[in-house]
Amino acid sequence: MSGTAPERLDRFMARANAAYYAGRDPFADFVTAPEISQMFGEILGAWVAIAWQGMGRPDPFILAEAGPGRGTLMADMTRLLARVAPDCHEAARVHLVETSPRLREVQRAALAGRTAQPVAWHDRIEALPDGPMILLANEFLDALPIRQFVRTGAGWSERFVDGVGFVALPAEDLPEAPFDRPVPEGEILECCPEALAVARRLAARFARSPGTALFIDYGYDGALWGDTLQALRDGQPAWPLADPGLADLTAHVDFAAFARAAAGAACHGSVTQGALLAGLGLFARAEQLARNRPPVEAHAIRDAAQRLAAPDRMGRLFKALAITSPGLPAPPGFAVEPAGGDAR
Ligand code: SAH
Repeated sequence: MSGTAPERLDRFMARANAAYYAGRDPFADFVTAPEISQMFGEILGAWVAIAWQGMGRPDPFILAEAGPGRGTLMADMTRLLARVAPDCHEAARVHLVETSPRLREVQRAALAGRTAQPVAWHDRIEALPDGPMILLANEFLDALPIRQFVRTGAGWSERFVDGVGFVALPAEDLPEAPFDRPVPEGEILECCPEALAVARRLAARFARSPGTALFIDYGYDGALWGDTLQALRDGQPAWPLADPGLADLTAHVDFAAFARAAAGAACHGSVTQGALLAGLGLFARAEQLARNRPPVEAHAIRDAAQRLAAPDRMGRLFKALAITSPGLPAPPGFAVEPAGGDAR
C-alpha cells in the first residue's frame, strides 16, 4: 500500500484478526484442544466444579469464557457439570466474551439446551457483570494484538507495517511492560498491552469479589525475547503481513509478564498443559472412554489424550496460568512443578 502511512503492528494485527474472525472459519485453519477431544472440556468442567467448591459454592456465579470459538469447550464443560455437579450447573450463569457475530451464532447453537439460564454475550472482559466468577480462556490471549520493539544502540525502535513489509520507526511510547531484559542489539521484544490490561482488570476485580481465571495458551514463561508473530492461512504457515483478514495472526503468550501484571491477585503456574491435564486425570478418563470400544476407536481416544498432553505434541508448548482472589485455595492441578523458562 504505497502512499499510506506505516501502521503500528498492533493496530494492523487488531484489524486483520477482527476481519479474520468475522469472515472466516478459523477451524479450517487450525485445530484447538477442545476440538481434538471432548476429554479436554470434561476435565476442565471437573476443574470448574472443584474451583467453585473452593470459592464457597456461590449461587449464582458467572461461568465465563473468553474467545469461545465454536463453543465446544463450554458445551463439554456444561454437559459434564450437569452430570456430576448439578448444583454447580444450576448456579452457573454462562457469559461469553466474543467479538465475532458469526462465531456468536455458532456458540448459540452449540450451547442450546445446555445451560440452566440463557447465555449472555459481551465484547470485552470488562463488560462482564459483577459477582463471583470463574473464567476460562483457551487460545484467546494469543490472538490479541502485540507490539514489537527492536533494541537499537540508542534505545528502542518499534515495528510498523509498511505495505507487506516491516519498517522500524522511533517508538511512540514504551509500555511499562518489562523492558528489563538483556536483549541483544537488533533483537525484538514483544509486548501485548491488551493481555496485560486483562490481567490487571481481573486482579482488581478478584480483589473485590471471589474469582478464579484459567488461561491456556502456547507461550513462554521467562525473560525471553524474539519475534513470535505467525500466520496460518488455509492451514499453512503464511507471511503475516500479506492479505490481512485471510490468515489467523497469533503470537506466543508471555506468561511471566501476564502474571506480573496480575499483581495483587494470587497467580498459580504457569504449568504445562500436559502436567495440568495429566494431574486432573486425563489418562484415566481416556482409559475409561476406551474401555469396551472397538480397537480403532480406543486407539483414537488414547491418541487424542497423547496429542493434548505429550511433551512433543501440545503438552509442553501449551501452558496454563491460573489467577485467583487472594486467600482462595490453589485451583486443582496447580500443585505441580512450574513450567519454567523453557525455550520457545
Ligand atoms: N477458545 C476456542 C477458540 C480459539 S480462537 C478454542 O479453543 O477452540 C480465538 C477466539 O477468540 C475466537 O472465538 C475469536 O473470535 C475470539 N477473539 C479473538 N480476538 C478477540 C477479542 N479481541 N475479543 C474477544 N474475542 C476475541
